[in-house]
Amino acid sequence: MRPLPRTDFAKIILLLAFMSGCATSPLGRNQLLLAPEQQVESMGVRSFAAMKQQKRMNTRPSDNRFVNCVADALIRQTGGHWEVVVFDDPTANAFALPGGKIGVHSGILAITRTQDQLATVLGHELAHVLAHHANERLSQQLAVRQGLSLVGAMAQPDSASARLLMGALGMGAQYGILLPYSRTQESEADLYGLELMAKAGFDPQASVAFWQNMDKNAGAQQPEFLSTHPSHENRIRELERQIPAIMARYRPAKTAPSGPQCERGR
Ligand SMILES: [Zn+2]
Repeated sequence: MRPLPRTDFAKIILLLAFMSGCATSPLGRNQLLLAPEQQVESMGVRSFAAMKQQKRMNTRPSDNRFVNCVADALIRQTGGHWEVVVFDDPTANAFALPGGKIGVHSGILAITRTQDQLATVLGHELAHVLAHHANERLSQQLAVRQGLSLVGAMAQPDSASARLLMGALGMGAQYGILLPYSRTQESEADLYGLELMAKAGFDPQASVAFWQNMDKNAGAQQPEFLSTHPSHENRIRELERQIPAIMARYRPAKTAPSGPQCERGR
């Protein structure tokens, strides 16, 4: 048998590398995931630990009870272990990181007045993590920037490449790089988030009010949350289109005795 020409051989190796990185999102979309999941998770765990050292925690029992009540109901649907922290920060933001971390700023509680609205934002954030969107964004950076390595960047957390990768992880504000999620990822997190909240017993119709409140409260100053989760004009129309089908999952969950009853209290 004639040996393969060198260029064909290189092409096959490249193809194999890409094939091994191919995955499918929870909604069935093909994804390229090049970064080892364990490393992505350890990045999430490390940056959350750093954040807990730098930021003040919100110690109000009523806020913590409310946030944990909503998060716990969603986590019963996702499974896995998640650490939930409420930060004493007036900016409207909430995030979830690979490695099982959820952060909620006090500021977003002024926008999410009901359990269903808070479940909208947490469901959306959990969906980003469960659909490996951080890995997808890291993979795009690794694929386009030759020589960029996760291990190298993490060894030098102050380097430009580390900042870029932290931006892809969703922790950009700490490092001055806010990387928006793509429109595809936003739509996917919206739809998957709706599913999660409905199954957990939260009213999916509240998602419309949440995004409207977020836009309204943003005012002149674009909050970090909207910079990384760009609101597209179609979002609300798309949610309204999806909600009727999702309601079928919400109704039985709502009437179940285990249905969530989270109140913010005073
Ligand atoms: Zn998003």
